Amino acid sequence: MEPPKAFIQTYGCQMNEHDTYRMMGVLAAEGYAMTNTPEGASLIVLNTCSVRHNPENKVYSFLGATRGLKKENPELIVAVAGCVAQQEGENILKREKGVDIVFGPDNLFELPEMISAVRRGERVLRTKWQPHERRVQNFIPEEWVEQGHVEGCKAYISITKGCDNFCTFCVVPYTRGREVSRESENILREARDLVSKGAKEIWLLGQNVNSYRVGSFGFAELLDGLSKVSGLPRVRFTSPHPNDWNNDLSDLMAERPSICNQLHLPFQSGSDRLLAEMNRGHTIEEYLEKIEYMRAINPRLELSSDLIVGFPGETEEDFADTLRVLEEVRFAQLYPFKYSPRPKTKAMNMEDDVPREVKEDRLAHVIALQRRIHEEDIQRYVGTEEEILIGGAHPKVRHTMNGRTDGFRPVSVVSDELEIGDFARVRITGAKGHWLYAERIDREESAPVATTALGAEQ
Ligand code: SF4
Repeated sequence: MEPPKAFIQTYGCQMNEHDTYRMMGVLAAEGYAMTNTPEGASLIVLNTCSVRHNPENKVYSFLGATRGLKKENPELIVAVAGCVAQQEGENILKREKGVDIVFGPDNLFELPEMISAVRRGERVLRTKWQPHERRVQNFIPEEWVEQGHVEGCKAYISITKGCDNFCTFCVVPYTRGREVSRESENILREARDLVSKGAKEIWLLGQNVNSYRVGSFGFAELLDGLSKVSGLPRVRFTSPHPNDWNNDLSDLMAERPSICNQLHLPFQSGSDRLLAEMNRGHTIEEYLEKIEYMRAINPRLELSSDLIVGFPGETEEDFADTLRVLEEVRFAQLYPFKYSPRPKTKAMNMEDDVPREVKEDRLAHVIALQRRIHEEDIQRYVGTEEEILIGGAHPKVRHTMNGRTDGFRPVSVVSDELEIGDFARVRITGAKGHWLYAERIDREESAPVATTALGAEQ
């Protein structure tokens, strides 16, 4: 008999992707096989995100589309997980009669029980937090620590969950709860297991990843430990907060070949007045000083950021301050968003007074400026040599593989020999959009590598 099929639709950030991989593990243990289409599935899970308004709308439109599938197969189980589930809870069950389960991020490992309850004819709501008083919690249960998923050669490890910062625009503290950190040995055990399953690149995840702390053991100590894991050549992490970033972390990054030269450090706005309104806890000067230091000691560092346009009260002057930061820092990658009020947040009580057209104009301006900066900067790669980690085949072009530099630049290289998880020395021959194009070069020809060490074991 064929195993029952499960389909998971994931919206949002890497944390949600990670939760999806964890759900896949839980469902595989229950005998489910994963499928890439909702048609024919016995279980559909929507793993949702509510950080922006759009993904939330997508959830309801997807749920509308599952009604037909449920008509065809009344046994089909539909579950809504993630931040929208946590936030909306019972409202989803009331609004969508075809939904059987609504569960929050803290209830993921209870999925088998919830499925059994549906089979007994119940509709299930589980959005209860694990107790928050404990600031240290091994929130991946012991029996699941070594059941992590490697996708290609990449894997995620969640090291903290939740956030205590309460930025006034952000829904995360309400949908993911207060911040807790995992014991370092629990994390390192997961890392060693993922490496044994073929992981070459591990991403440490946390809503405020660098505020990780268990007693006197902080993010720097954890990063130091991971950079020494045998057989793990690349470590990345996201997202750090500027307040918890310090020069010691910059020094460690510059020093350790296996800690990738990539940093996503959100600045959100160039205006000190708005940064205070957002409760970011730093000035733009403090942010820029940290960047200046890390660039001075680590010129290969690639930076990216999030920013919000049209936050309540944003004037032309505030917006000009934001543009100045873009010109000064010249980010490799930028994720700009139009402000939209999110439920329960403090900014929800502020007047959303920047007209929609102004937000759109400002967003278009930011995108155009960033495109110009990017086009100018990416050309400096042409003619250089890079070491890339191959992540997969080019989806459209035959005999071509795609990889990433340690700064996270995407590179396409013509090759019939390279496989996922291989490292390759390449010479960049062209650049278009966000992509670099390269030819493989023999190791004998190449200059000594000053970047990521292959299979670094320190
Ligand atoms: S630090 Fe990040 S996750 Fe935490 S409240 Fe602020 S924006 Fe949200």
